[in-house]
Amino acid sequence: MPSYIAPLEDMMFLFNKLRNNKKYNEIEKYKEVNSELVKDILEEAAKISQNLILPLAKSGDENPPILENGVVRTSPGYKEAYKKFIEDGWISLSCDPKYGGQGMPKTVSTFFDEMLSSASLAFKLYSELTIGAYNCILRHASEEIKDTYLPKMVEGKWSGTMCLTEPVCGTDLGLLKTKAEEQSDGTYKINGQKIFITSGDHDLTENIIHLVLARSTDSPKGTKGISLFLVPKFIVKEDGNVGSRNGVSTGSIENKMGIKGSATCVLNFDGATGYMIGQKNRGLNSMFTMMNLERIVVGIQGLGISEIAYQNSLSYAKERKQGKANNTKSENGADFIIDHADIRKSLLNMKSIIEGERALCFWLSQQTEVSLNHSDENVKQEASDFVSLMTPVVKSMFTDMGMEITSEAMQIHGGYGFTKDLGIEQLYRDNRITPIYEGTNSVQAADLVFRKLVTKNGDIIDKYLNLVKEETNINDEKIQSYKKQLDHYLAILGKFTDWIKEKIKDSKDDVSAASNDYLKVLGLVATAHAWIKVLEVSFKDYEKNKDFYEDKIQTANYYFNRVLPRAESYFKSATTGSKYIMEFKFN
Ligand SMILES: Cc1cc2nc3c(=O)[nH]c(=O)nc-3n(C[C@H](O)[C@H](O)[C@H](O)COP(=O)(O)OP(=O)(O)OC[C@H]3O[C@@H](n4cnc5c(N)ncnc54)[C@H](O)[C@@H]3O)c2cc1C
Repeated sequence: MPSYIAPLEDMMFLFNKLRNNKKYNEIEKYKEVNSELVKDILEEAAKISQNLILPLAKSGDENPPILENGVVRTSPGYKEAYKKFIEDGWISLSCDPKYGGQGMPKTVSTFFDEMLSSASLAFKLYSELTIGAYNCILRHASEEIKDTYLPKMVEGKWSGTMCLTEPVCGTDLGLLKTKAEEQSDGTYKINGQKIFITSGDHDLTENIIHLVLARSTDSPKGTKGISLFLVPKFIVKEDGNVGSRNGVSTGSIENKMGIKGSATCVLNFDGATGYMIGQKNRGLNSMFTMMNLERIVVGIQGLGISEIAYQNSLSYAKERKQGKANNTKSENGADFIIDHADIRKSLLNMKSIIEGERALCFWLSQQTEVSLNHSDENVKQEASDFVSLMTPVVKSMFTDMGMEITSEAMQIHGGYGFTKDLGIEQLYRDNRITPIYEGTNSVQAADLVFRKLVTKNGDIIDKYLNLVKEETNINDEKIQSYKKQLDHYLAILGKFTDWIKEKIKDSKDDVSAASNDYLKVLGLVATAHAWIKVLEVSFKDYEKNKDFYEDKIQTANYYFNRVLPRAESYFKSATTGSKYIMEFKFN
């Protein structure tokens, strides 16, 4: 089983030194969230992740949930761990105190999301979708529905799901067939089938609150006829307690390559009672509240799995002896593989991407909080535009990099990485879903180039590029060589953006074929921006913690020399267009 120690020092470094978004610091309700409090929370979070959750990764992989007499039984140990997890209040970390939550900002809960993803993504998913559903209900449901459902969800006694996918539609939800028929009492009868539903059924909670997309019988075809419904597994009685069983049943559990401990279910809705959330025919908009926040969390899943893959690769490279390294000092026998330049390169590749991503994610957490909580509507809107620009980038880049990093981890472990002995191949398998669910990475890239660069609020990408220039206009002499490199790649990103804006007018296939590359270039530059902010502190405070900051500077050197330059080749190949792709005749 892989080992895991939460990277608390790095997390506290970000919280203490990079919490410098002026607008974030103006948010009144987070003024009390200080360094000591966060350190206490993260230390406890680390303990629970390392001791309680980590062992569940193997247990879930070897003994996936089973469907028995219509009831899903979770993997051994899950029930006990979940009970402790909710008793200690971990689900409620970022929820509103009005409903029993602890009201922690994303600058804190994001770190916990990362730890849980490292420890066991399959276990994490049981609570993750509850928070997603909580966010959606909080923003779109009536006060009555909020009061009925949110306290139990925040307590973890009831869990949540998000039911979009059907056999005929995953990406293209306009095709969905699930029907909702209005009843005389204002409720709806839901009929249809949903597939691939994460935590669709399980034995961890006393009720499951499904958020279901369905088409009202009098609504038009396509995405404009979709509404959102809350469909509980058990009807909730007037007194707030769980009553009779609703018409939702589990058809089967999907047999998957990874996250096997997570019950991914086929759900049948047969005249199930549902309550409409938000406006009729605007269901997709409401669901997007859940999906957008969830997409960032999926990016963090990729980051968390990358971290545990890196930690185990580093330990293994320090223990495994094979071959003679160049300039070796040892006279006899073999050297540790960490002495080989190629292995060192792999380790630094992982580390520089992970730490850069974590810093970028911390920047994004501050922007997200500003977009949700700042008192000035204009400030809120600007932050919201940046979050919306960066959401597909974080979702896709972090999860794609997760594939690269878990693959490298297997490579460093050699044959033992491929066999099940050390649990490294499981990290690769578990991460493989992250570029697929919550909108595939190609769909994220299309969303970025076609909808996020320029919106009704203006030229968002242009504003973002200016923000990066402003935030990296740092006087320190030691930063200048990094800054020069960043400027070079910012110019490439600028040229690439102009190319996209031009092609979008009359050559959409060129844009589609370039979209994944464009997303990668933006992601690499955004990560370089985050690294420059880390370097600024590292040079300024160098004498206060030499070892830590020297490590940061050397890791950044690798990023700027070996990772960031990938942007140039993505740009060059993408801008060759798509004619030769579209005209190719596949036989
Ligand atoms: C383990 C697991 C858990 C899941 N959990 C949930 C859940 O909780 N709730 C839920 O509702 N769903 C869930 N899903 C479903 C998941 O979100 C979908 O599988 C995903 O959105 C892709 O849809 P699809 O499988 O139908 O693929 P398709 O939409 O058929 O896509 C197939 C391929 O075509 C590409 N493609 C599609 N449209 C376009 C386009 N316009 N342009 C370019 N390329 C395109 C896609 O990128 C993909 O590569 C889960 C799936 C899995 C496997």
